[in-house]
Amino acid sequence: EEEKGLNFIEEIIEADLAAGKYNSIITRFPPEPNGYLHIGHASSICLNFGLTLKYPGYTNLRFDDTNPVTEDTEYVESIKEDIKWLGFTWKNELYASDYFDQLYTFAIKLINKGLAYVDDSTSEEIAAMKGTTTQPGVNSPYRDRSVEENLELFARMKAGEFPDGSRTLRAKIDMAHPNMIMRDPVLYRIKHAHHHRTGDAWCIYPMYDFAHGQSDSIEEVTHSLCTMEFVPHRELYDWCIEKLEIYPSHQYEFARRNLNYTVTSKRKLLQLVNEKHVTGWDDPRMPTISGLRRRGYTPFSIRDFCDRIGIAKRENMIDVSLLEFCVREDLNKSALRRMVVFDPLKVILTNYPEGQEELLQSEDNPEAETITHRDIPFCRELYIEREDFMEVPPKKFFRLAPGQMVRLKSAYIIRCDEVVKNDAGTITELHCSYIPESKSGSDTSGINVKGTLHWVSAKHAVSAEVRLYDRLFRVEDPSSEEGDFKSYINPDSLQVIDHVYAEPALLKSSFDERYQFLRKGYFCLDKDTSEEKLVFNRTVTLKDAWAK
Ligand code: ATP
Ligand code: MG
Ligand code: MG
Repeated sequence: EEEKGLNFIEEIIEADLAAGKYNSIITRFPPEPNGYLHIGHASSICLNFGLTLKYPGYTNLRFDDTNPVTEDTEYVESIKEDIKWLGFTWKNELYASDYFDQLYTFAIKLINKGLAYVDDSTSEEIAAMKGTTTQPGVNSPYRDRSVEENLELFARMKAGEFPDGSRTLRAKIDMAHPNMIMRDPVLYRIKHAHHHRTGDAWCIYPMYDFAHGQSDSIEEVTHSLCTMEFVPHRELYDWCIEKLEIYPSHQYEFARRNLNYTVTSKRKLLQLVNEKHVTGWDDPRMPTISGLRRRGYTPFSIRDFCDRIGIAKRENMIDVSLLEFCVREDLNKSALRRMVVFDPLKVILTNYPEGQEELLQSEDNPEAETITHRDIPFCRELYIEREDFMEVPPKKFFRLAPGQMVRLKSAYIIRCDEVVKNDAGTITELHCSYIPESKSGSDTSGINVKGTLHWVSAKHAVSAEVRLYDRLFRVEDPSSEEGDFKSYINPDSLQVIDHVYAEPALLKSSFDERYQFLRKGYFCLDKDTSEEKLVFNRTVTLKDAWAK
């Protein structure tokens, strides 16, 4: 294994540990429970949890649930399931909403210090007074209220005496501050809304900037890692900690990771779900962790992907083929090899005795440490893939053609003797002869053939449905295109083949196994599987179909 250099966060942590600033570190993963986690979040999870696996310390899971309107316990549950599935264990399960009392006390402290005031301006008025990057803002007419008046009004805000949007609590900083975020930011807003955990206990809710850093501080998070859009918020983060005189957590920013041919924004993914462009958050075409899981991605492949892309300070687009590469690498080692014919052409072995059948042995996985085998029934009538036969083959067509020989995987060499067609001229079956001495593993025929085909016994074949997926969007970055990102959805992202012919071993498929359908790709059982029907998802093809 090649030694990788430290990323810039690791450099900071190693310097902090070396300087004795900390003996151990605390990080947190802070999702807002307003949607399912996506591959971008996986990056942040691997980073936060990875750091405390590498260095002494631990990682908390903290739900940043300060916006009652968009949040839901369904999301809380899915987030926990996804993190566990990725293979990480949090030390404490925490909720910003558990700190509502504490945050309220913090607000009182700022008011008492003359550092916060109740503003009766509307949000439009506040925006109009904000100024621009080149012009200072204007002080609110309510800015100089007395501490007593502020305390009383804030208590009445909490008591529910005022309607939504009628008042806010703002920090009293500087309306001419070069950082726009420092121009008297709103700390609390009135929202008579039901919260998924605190119910109707509160009708004022802290803003992100007055909840996030304080929660970090309460938990004594040492390194608070967030994405680059929070760079301008860092000054306010530090200001609150300083003025409240609380534990000094530090914020560090890294770049968002985006994947091409998809969108990584919960808000946009929610639209895809709500408008039924996909079947749900776990649709196998979704870039969500639950979608990738259902598609057949392994936890290792996603962690490996996050590891390979690492972290950076500049945002960039990651090629989805890297994610596919990672899952191929992993599945090649673990997937059970099986044979499935998608588009059958019947082969009759004219010299194989009628009514006779035998069980052949085939390796489950040639890459495995201990090789195991399964039985495959073989008899006179078989199916091969229609595209594996050509009546008039081009040069170097090493599959089946009139007079040509191929090997059937783990079985015999056969030769095509006769092509049978119906009245319409369509090929209905091939009459072939098999070479009895050519049985795989004990071949004494001396015949060399170049092609090996997958096949199934017609009599023993099991019916299944397969779902083949393509990219969900036609363009690399749908969000940056003109107009609605949804107009760039790929109309052919799902292809269903509802009746394929599978070898009978697949009757015993299970959800935790992965399969390589020979020459077809990697597959897993889908949750739509029922007593009546096996349903498989193609995780990925065997080779990158898009590679030039
Ligand atoms: P979205 O826009 O999808 O809602 P978000 O940042 O609002 O994303 P949060 O629930 O706040 O979602 O995210 C939890 C953590 O994951 C945050 O620290 C956030 O910075 C990080 N994160 C979110 N998206 C990405 C991404 N694409 N790449 C890396 N980290 C991300
Ligand atoms: Mg967020
Ligand atoms: Mg968000």
